[in-house]
Amino acid sequence: MKKPFVTLEKIQEIVKDIPTPFHIYDEKGIRENASQVKQAFAWNTGFREYFAVKANPNPYLINILREYGCGCDCSSMTELMLAAELGFKGEEIMFSSNATPAEEYRYAAQLGAIINLDDFTHVQFLEESIGYIPRTICCRYNPGGVYEMSNGIMDNPGDAKYGMTERQMTEAFRIMKNKGAEKFGIHAFLASNTVTNEYYPKLAGDLFRLAVRLKEATGVNVTFINLSGGVGIPYTPEQPANDIVEIGQGVKKAFEEILVPAGMGHVAVYTEMGRFMMGPYGGLVTQAVHEKHIYKEYIGCDACAANLMRPAVYGSYHHITVLGKENQPCDHKYDVTGSLCENSDKFAIDRKLPRIDKGDYLFIHDTGAHGYSMGYQYNGKLRSAEVLLKADGSHRLIRRAETPRDYFATFDFSDIVKNLI
Ligand SMILES: *Cc1c(COP(=O)(O)O)cnc(C)c1O
Repeated sequence: MKKPFVTLEKIQEIVKDIPTPFHIYDEKGIRENASQVKQAFAWNTGFREYFAVKANPNPYLINILREYGCGCDCSSMTELMLAAELGFKGEEIMFSSNATPAEEYRYAAQLGAIINLDDFTHVQFLEESIGYIPRTICCRYNPGGVYEMSNGIMDNPGDAKYGMTERQMTEAFRIMKNKGAEKFGIHAFLASNTVTNEYYPKLAGDLFRLAVRLKEATGVNVTFINLSGGVGIPYTPEQPANDIVEIGQGVKKAFEEILVPAGMGHVAVYTEMGRFMMGPYGGLVTQAVHEKHIYKEYIGCDACAANLMRPAVYGSYHHITVLGKENQPCDHKYDVTGSLCENSDKFAIDRKLPRIDKGDYLFIHDTGAHGYSMGYQYNGKLRSAEVLLKADGSHRLIRRAETPRDYFATFDFSDIVKNLI
């Protein structure tokens, strides 16, 4: 059974000063998990988790992860600015982007971030953008085809826009070595939300063998291998959670079998997890404001897909708990909807839940990653607040909700409207 990390009583207290909807985060859970990740890879001296900022770009949350040695994985100008503003420096920042604008390479280089090149043509593009090839450089790999594990096909890299072929990578390493690069990294993201302990160890094995081949072919010094993201979380109550300690041991085994005998035991392992670091430790709290009985039973909420787009866009399952009714039988069947003029704006379809009354608070689980950050303003909906449930049980507003002023901030219609609210 999936249990919310917050009680109805606590939510009733919070809504006195922060109206619904809002995303709430569990400091205790974030800390325990980050500490486990650190321990799971402690066998590797250079290990670092670069938190994928896109999953949850809230500075308060990133600062918590930082206490456990995490860096930032950024993919855009503003994410780089956020990391810089928080005081992350040099190789504490990974810049993994694609279709990258020149000014973003310039800024990443200025910060001393590790630049991860998505394509062979970016070798020249980077050099033209910043005037040199950095001492430390990383290339993103795409093996093509489908990515299979024991339980079937995980994903389809052959259809993915990211990364370069092994031949291109070999050539890129040669060129950059000649241009003065000294420390080389390898990166790949080949499957998303993998709820299996097998993915990282298999990926690590593939990348470690690639590293050995690249070293033999080009003579470069491979100093790190970045397993990127893709470690999943159980969104449904039936799925078992990944065991990060077991995953860390699986990667260690591949490391000892492949890299150590090749004389590459000094290589650092990096990760760029987003979902695994934050997903389960966030929830979207929304109030049931309407009920509707036509051909189906509907519950209308004060949150909508603009606050959490995964169900509407990917058909993703997010578990829902009716706060205060945790122990009541799920003997009603509802479509739980938001208010967008879009029929896909449903948090759940034909979901068995306890009877929901107007005014009930719903807790939509696992919104800590790719939740708030994927939000948008369609239908003039405003982004919600974010609240931190602190380890001591108190709460703190860590991002205020948007106001109409924020929505109107990008244009000046003072000529048209006189008294803007
Ligand atoms: C999205 C992304 C991540 C994080 O992925 P998760 O599935 O959230 O772990 C890491 N690295 C890159 C380059 C990404 O695009």
